Amino acid sequence: MKKTLVMKFGGTSVGSADALKNVVQIIRDAKKDWGRVVVVTSAMSGVTNLLLDSAAAASQGKLDSLSETESSLRAKHFAAADALVPDSARREALKAEIEKLIQTQMNLCKAVAVLGEASPRALDVVASLGERMSVRLLAAVVESGGVRAEALEASEFIVTDGEFQNAHPDLGITVEKTRRRLNPLLDENVVPIVTGFIGATAEGQVTTLGRGGSDYSAALIGFALPANEVWIWTDVNGVMTTDPRIAPNAQTLPEISYNEIAELAYYGAKVLHPKTIRPVVEAGIGLRICNTFNPSHPGTRLTANGHSNGSKEKPEKVIKAVTAIRCQRLVTIEGRGMLGVPGVAARAFSAVASTGTSVPLITQASSEQSICFAIPADTAPSILRALEKVFKHEIVRQDIDRIWSTEDVTIVTVVGAGMRHMAGVSGKVFSQLGANDVNILAIAQGSSEVSISFVVDHVNTETAVKSLHELIVR
Ligand code: ASP
Ligand code: MG
Repeated sequence: MKKTLVMKFGGTSVGSADALKNVVQIIRDAKKDWGRVVVVTSAMSGVTNLLLDSAAAASQGKLDSLSETESSLRAKHFAAADALVPDSARREALKAEIEKLIQTQMNLCKAVAVLGEASPRALDVVASLGERMSVRLLAAVVESGGVRAEALEASEFIVTDGEFQNAHPDLGITVEKTRRRLNPLLDENVVPIVTGFIGATAEGQVTTLGRGGSDYSAALIGFALPANEVWIWTDVNGVMTTDPRIAPNAQTLPEISYNEIAELAYYGAKVLHPKTIRPVVEAGIGLRICNTFNPSHPGTRLTANGHSNGSKEKPEKVIKAVTAIRCQRLVTIEGRGMLGVPGVAARAFSAVASTGTSVPLITQASSEQSICFAIPADTAPSILRALEKVFKHEIVRQDIDRIWSTEDVTIVTVVGAGMRHMAGVSGKVFSQLGANDVNILAIAQGSSEVSISFVVDHVNTETAVKSLHELIVR
């Protein structure tokens, strides 16, 4: 039985004619080694934002930049078609299909402007157009490169609920439909080129899996077939020890465990969509992250525990990576009347949840006199309002003295599964921050002990990340 590989290409990897050339070569090479290859692609870089921005402008009645959007969508896709699809009949057919999708966007924006609003359902149709264009482009380019390929819309077989903009797949039906749709093509030696990011409800309404969701699409397809491996092709050499824009000596991690990468993805390192990991782990599928602009680099392999070189690891290497989420605020609810009163935290977090915000970090002092948690800065006003409303009686009775939020802060997270077995790692981390004059506003340690997070003032972001990164790369 031939082995199956799913490869996902991100927006920059398919973002220009030059980038697409590398992708074709990568697909050609993979086809030789693997036999059964499925490709999942994002929209060309910038396209999803362009589509959503023009719909948002339209919902405020602004259509003046629509023709600019129209020509830039056309220019981007047609330039790649002109460069990489030499056969004129195939090229013209491709352009006609892309033009149809561009006109769909124009009509949607005009309709949105008339209605004065864009529903989540309409926005998913808008957002889906980027991938629907890129699969057609990539399939034509791959075929022009001598590999049989077919463009497919995942709305045919990834079946989701109706939570537009963040839809959840129904795994049972998706597995069955994906196999039924893809296996015959794979049996015929054709490379299916599938839209990332999108699915459809059982009734056939287009949905999206959330921004950056193409990785998740690849994982779902890998899970469904099942594939032997899923490779995520992006524009960096795998998972880095930190953001190289902050610390130029950042290095690629040859291996990282699923637990560790889950923490990283959650804490702002934009390596993988967080939902990608679970289906792949459950099916025991190998996952790899690699760089289309440097395909011979081995990238990063995901492993079950990340310790294949366990005992050889130097103690200071227990810290694998440092990451930062900026633009957060710390909200504190404080008051002596909270002592021993059950349910305060529950009410606080359900008030936060009612605003649709998820909370990345929570701490509570054992005195029970304050609860403190982080939230994205732009959600602070609505969250403070919601909290003041639920606790209005406690505030009147002065059981709660104050509900307030800080200015912008950053959550800095240190990730490494080895921390579980190493006393003193957190001590080392604190001393390093202290030695660099970084004041810590709050601390949280994940119960998995795979990460420790600190909240620091936003002005200390770079110093905190750089100095902690020195504990990894010396
Ligand atoms: N194109 C979608 C986005 O920009 C999905 C993806 O790129 O993964 O969010
Ligand atoms: Mg992405």
